[in-house]
Amino acid sequence: MIITLTPNANPKAVRQILTHHGLWVAQIARDDLADETHFVIADHSAYVHPSVLTNIPGIRSVSVPQTDHPRIDKQGPCVDVRGVTIGGGLPVFMCGPCSVDSPDTIHRIAAHVASLGVQFLRGGAYKPRTSPYSFQGHGPEALSWLFDAARAHNLRIVTEVLAEADVPVVAERADLLQIGSRNMQNFALLKAVGAAHRPVLLKRSMSATVEEWLLAGEYLLVHGAAGVVLCERGIRGFDNPTRNLLDLGSVALLAHVHRLPVIVDPSHATGRRDLILPLGRAALAAGAAGVMIETHPEPSCALSDGPQAVPLEALGTTLDSLKKGLA
Ligand code: PEP
Ligand code: MN
Repeated sequence: MIITLTPNANPKAVRQILTHHGLWVAQIARDDLADETHFVIADHSAYVHPSVLTNIPGIRSVSVPQTDHPRIDKQGPCVDVRGVTIGGGLPVFMCGPCSVDSPDTIHRIAAHVASLGVQFLRGGAYKPRTSPYSFQGHGPEALSWLFDAARAHNLRIVTEVLAEADVPVVAERADLLQIGSRNMQNFALLKAVGAAHRPVLLKRSMSATVEEWLLAGEYLLVHGAAGVVLCERGIRGFDNPTRNLLDLGSVALLAHVHRLPVIVDPSHATGRRDLILPLGRAALAAGAAGVMIETHPEPSCALSDGPQAVPLEALGTTLDSLKKGLA
């Protein structure tokens, strides 16, 4: 980005204001013939909307480089989901089972997580799996169970939509539509989900660069999504004592430089319940807007991802410790 000052501006004073906005003045160039001073702003500075900059006394013009994702660059750090703000304040928690397995279990989970102050009930009705022969979710029935349980306890619902054909039925029930990591670049699905005009939780594909992730978010906004919340859930590494490699560097980059809301999902990132707390803490310290945690009253009976589920009775301690880390 290049900022041109007015001829009578005080470059030192303007530079100070820019620095306060989180911009790094990488270079100053003086053009004596045109009686102009230009600041070159480093690419990795914080994002500040150009209209904010042109209002600073002493700045004549701002020229912004072309970006392939202008809408997500401008979205800002907060997304409203039916009255709950994700980003810009206290962390939000999204808790629930991997898959919604029965009406009783989801009601039990909803009642408990609501009593702990959790804002979102998660749970898959349509499940993407590593093997197509694994359980793929109870479908529309599970959506109704999830909906009833969430509404009974004033929880917001985040649930995955796997196929274009399912967008209407999922959008009718979910407050936040989840695009799973296996579908981050399924552009036909992104288009259909965008057209539902709802906020979207966009999980990062296990092999996507940050740029590809932002482009997918852009595509959702182009097609009408009411807001995009990113979710880091681990990328493919070369070692597998943990299921994936949780990329907290990208979380910090997106939160502090791009100023976008990012949720971290340590459950799918590690596949181990004993690592949820340390990585949840690290995520919040890195700037995450919240944490997604899988939980189940009887993890050994869960229909999917039991080994990573925090037992429901232990969730309160986990959340308390996460919140304490912020104090
Ligand atoms: C999930 O959140 O239920 C899920 C399947 O996650 P991911 O898409 O990150 O694997
Ligand atoms: Mn799962």
